[in-house]
Amino acid sequence: MMYLDNAATAPVRREVLEAMWPYVTADFGNPSSHHEVGEAAARGLADARETIAAALDCRAAEIVFTSGGTEANNLAVKGIALAAPRGRHIVTTAIEHEAVLASCDYLRRHHGFEIALVPLGDGGLVDPHALAAALRPDTTLVSIMHANNEIGTVQPIRALAEIARAAGVPMHTDAVQSAPWLRVGLRSLGVDALSVSGHKLGAPKGIGLLAVRGSVPIEPLLHGGGQERGRRSGTENVAGAVGLAEAIRLRSGARSGDSVRRSRDSIIRGVLGAVPGAFLTGHRDARLPAHASFCFPGTSGEAVLLELERRGIVSSSGSACAAGSDDASHVLVALGIDEDTARTAVRFTLDSRVDEADAARVVSAVADAVAAVGSLR
Ligand code: PLP
Repeated sequence: MMYLDNAATAPVRREVLEAMWPYVTADFGNPSSHHEVGEAAARGLADARETIAAALDCRAAEIVFTSGGTEANNLAVKGIALAAPRGRHIVTTAIEHEAVLASCDYLRRHHGFEIALVPLGDGGLVDPHALAAALRPDTTLVSIMHANNEIGTVQPIRALAEIARAAGVPMHTDAVQSAPWLRVGLRSLGVDALSVSGHKLGAPKGIGLLAVRGSVPIEPLLHGGGQERGRRSGTENVAGAVGLAEAIRLRSGARSGDSVRRSRDSIIRGVLGAVPGAFLTGHRDARLPAHASFCFPGTSGEAVLLELERRGIVSSSGSACAAGSDDASHVLVALGIDEDTARTAVRFTLDSRVDEADAARVVSAVADAVAAVGSLR
């Protein structure tokens, strides 16, 4: 079985589990407790925060641990918008993760915010001039993802953040999909807030973080014991935080994505050559190194996925949330792809071990799977 759905979730790394082990066994304490057992846990949490801050180009006090990417995006969008609104106007895009779009929609329904969507260019790219044109004196927040989970398009975040900064508007970026592959940092990207999720990086599900500049006020979503400097109450997931720190540390020391990029390019070239009518979704060049996503017009994406699985290849339609549902992807529809064609989407998200031989196997399995689905119609 070849697992090519790493954007949905990636396996937990052995080193990560080993780093976590002491904090679910001997050092199991509550980090708020003032005895030795609690203090050992508090030290583990503090060390994890320091490691992550160094990797994400921010201060330890600027890390807020959350239950994952969804909570980090909710905290960023609602927390920043509600804390110090210059007005009730938010600028985002139509291809954000549901956690951003639904948070914006909540602010619209319950707090009277207006949500503006920046028009998208080639392959879903946001042009900095288009962002500049969307900003208003009452814009309170810009939220634009670093890399898209369905189409792999990587936005020019630094340039976009400069536009927001020049206008004095806080900028959040969802770096959940970029963190496993690209250098992400709060100050190096020039953003004010950045979301990361552990389970895309080789840490377990249920841990993530929002890095948020100390100068940006944020209204908490969870109220209680005042943990995480009052920004996220609840006893901290110490083992999860330690695992996330180890995953981020391993990631920072890793090689660039050059070899996986070659395998991805072989898959893209091979599939486009072998399957008549197939097209790539997202941007050809500005895309994540391990991401190949296609539409196969005239088929059904779900049927192709089943045929691929019968041939030992596990992939997805593009979004784990949409998988199994009959709804066309909001991302593909926002790119101007019609709903029927959007339902033919298949996404391969590789890991760094996928080599040229694997890529050739994927191409021939895709050609066979699409042919098998076509012959059923
Ligand atoms: N943002 C993006 C771009 C994602 O791909 C995901 C996960 O699918 C999330 C946010 C949500 O992260 P989590 O699963 O940790 O809640």
